Formats: sequence, C-alpha cells, structure tokens
Amino acid sequence: MALFGPPGAGKGTQAQLLKDRLNIAHISSGDLFRFHLQEGTHIGVRASEFMNQGLLVPDDLVIQMVLEKIAELGSNSGFILDGFPRTRDQAVALDSALQEQSKSLDTVLLVSVPESELVRRLGGRFLCRDCQSPFNLNDYQFSSPPPCTRCGGELYQRQDDRPEAIQVRIGVYNEQTAPALDFYRQRELLVEISGVGPVEDINREALKAIALDTSSHLG
Ligand code: AMP
Repeated sequence: MALFGPPGAGKGTQAQLLKDRLNIAHISSGDLFRFHLQEGTHIGVRASEFMNQGLLVPDDLVIQMVLEKIAELGSNSGFILDGFPRTRDQAVALDSALQEQSKSLDTVLLVSVPESELVRRLGGRFLCRDCQSPFNLNDYQFSSPPPCTRCGGELYQRQDDRPEAIQVRIGVYNEQTAPALDFYRQRELLVEISGVGPVEDINREALKAIALDTSSHLG
C-alpha cells in the first residue's frame, strides 16, 4: 500500500502502527534520504540541497532509491510506502516497476488534515535520531528535548520544519503531489480518511479502509 498526506498529516505515525499491526515492511523515502545524509553519501548530500528548502528531490534520484528498496524485499513481502510517490512521474514509474514484478498496490490511503492544523503540528514536531519516531512537543515546556519514549534516542527538530520551509512544503504538496493522487483516484485505489483526532482512532479508520479495499479487490 501507499500512504499519502500533506506534511504533518501523521503519515509516519500511522505507517509505524500499520507496519507493526500488519507485519509488513515500511519504506519511507524521507527516512531513506535522512539516513543517506547521516551517512554522508552522494545521494544524501544531493538530496539535502532540496530537502532543506522544503522542495522535492528530483524524480530520478528518489525513484531509483525507492525501487531498489522494494526490489530488496522478498517476492511475497508486503510493504507500506510512506512519502512515495509524490509526483505523477513517480507514480507511473512505480506502477511499471511493480507490474514487471507481477505486483500491484492494493490500497492508496490519503490522510487529510486542514492546513492550519498542519502548520501548528509541524512547528512542534521532533523526531528520534535513532528510531525516527515522531513526537509532538507543542504543549511541552523544555530547555532541551526529552529522550525518545520508544528507544531512549535523542530527539531533534528537522530543518525543513522551520516556518518558511513548512509553507513551501505545503505548496509543493498541493501543486506536485495532487496529480499523483489523481493517478490513483482514476484507478479507484484511493481511500481518504481524516487525520484529525486521537492517533488510535485514525489508525482504526486506516485499518477499516484497508479491509474495505481488500475485500472489494477480492470480490
Ligand atoms: P518526508 O520525511 O516524507 O516529509 O520527506 C522529507 C523531504 O524529503 C521532502 O520534503 C522532500 O524534500 C524529500 N522527499 C521525500 N520523499 C520524496 C519523494 N517521493 N519525492 C521527492 N522528494 C522527496
């Protein structure tokens, strides 16, 4: 499956929960880029020029990186794509790569959140350097962020969660990612849920949406 949503919609949180619940691989293009950057690879250095400004990394770079990751999975292994595809060209490239492996996406899940809420959330978002878990510290008073409650790792704020970059990223989502959503809407794979409310409720809706979609495909 693929998970769509504007920056700050909670894709990472839902992807983690779905991954644990469904026992499938989680492939996050953003996490892969951040990993490359940490390791100082050529991909990481090139990608960071775009990421720091809130812009999309060029298609050739991201498509190759994600398709290689999918190819590494066993042929029967399910996966959840988080943050990929983000353009129509990426969706087309994914479609043909999966077809070559006799695979296809079962569901494309869109997590929707109003823009004002996205800006609020991203401003208070911190990530764990080790396990990548996201935390919202909006209502938390601190001089330095607390450790990760999942693994004890260090929490940090992403460069692209600064206010200037947030506006750019939301604009990029509306302009460049919407055509990728249309691609899946036309194929009747797109299921939309609200990303506002308690995390567990959103997860329940996500699981319901997947089950509905799966049963319609089986039917
Ligand atoms: P994310 O962690 O998904 O918010 O991604 C962080 C940043 O990585 C994005 O703002 C982009 O600069 C870059 N990125 C991640 N996934 C993609 C993608 N599919 N296409 C282009 N750029 C991407």
